Amino acid sequence: MLFSVKNRKVIVTGAGSGIGKAIAKVFAEAGALIAVCDINEDAVQITAKEIEAIGSKAVAYKVDVGDYKEVSQTVEKIVSDFDGIEILVNNAGITRDMLLLRMNEKDFDDVIRINLKGTFNFTRCALKYLLKADFGRIINIASVIGEMGNVGQANYAAAKAGIIGFTKAVAREVASRKITVNAIAPGFIKTPMTDKLPEEIKSQYLKQIPLGREGLPEEVAYLCLFLASEEAGYITGQVIRLDGGMLMG
Ligand code: NAP
Repeated sequence: MLFSVKNRKVIVTGAGSGIGKAIAKVFAEAGALIAVCDINEDAVQITAKEIEAIGSKAVAYKVDVGDYKEVSQTVEKIVSDFDGIEILVNNAGITRDMLLLRMNEKDFDDVIRINLKGTFNFTRCALKYLLKADFGRIINIASVIGEMGNVGQANYAAAKAGIIGFTKAVAREVASRKITVNAIAPGFIKTPMTDKLPEEIKSQYLKQIPLGREGLPEEVAYLCLFLASEEAGYITGQVIRLDGGMLMG
């Protein structure tokens, strides 16, 4: 089978909803074994049950990606439950949109802590196990906003731009060990995160998208599956946009 992740041991963060859930399910359909992680315990248990119904192995872990100690303990537990880790998908993220003049410190800190530090925490704790495996892939979910900026999203743009820099630095550090590290920069994807946006903002986004529609979480998942496969072994340190043409060039 092309783009195989069969029997690969995978961590997906933020797997209780939206893009993370779609990634976990698409990987499960491709035969991977998945550690599904999320702060929302009920949601991630549901994801695990849906994966088991597909016939693949899934174990749910409740974890706040922004808490280093919790992440470290969770990664140790996953490694013991799965006997190693080969693929890490850092997907958990939040938005706290507000114009900068009105943005409070907590909303800045929370967005950096969950999106950017969460990516550091899981990567830092999982990397030694990827190095031990004979195979390693890290895929970070950034955003086109990290490249182009957006009104009301200074915190989110800073966090996602940080993820892009982090991706490139770590890609260079681990390239000699044949581990690839890439980022996906989605545009406007239909998930609970974007469903809560006012209709006016949604229609403004749609006007900026040449393909004229929202992306689907599964479309992000298929790109992630390719980047995680053996066949993508010569791609590293890249930011791959999946945005209906919203940002070109
Ligand atoms: P979503 O539907 O809100 O899903 C995010 C998941 O992450 C939720 O289950 C959420 O739990 C969980 N989460 C939040 N804080 C967490 C924490 N501290 N630790 C662990 N899990 C946590 O969002 P989505 O749209 O699928 O977004 C997934 C990723 O794609 C994010 O990094 C986002 O920035 C990125 N992205 C999304 C879009 C888009 O248009 N949707 C575009 C570009 C990039 P709760 O529901 O309990 O908060």
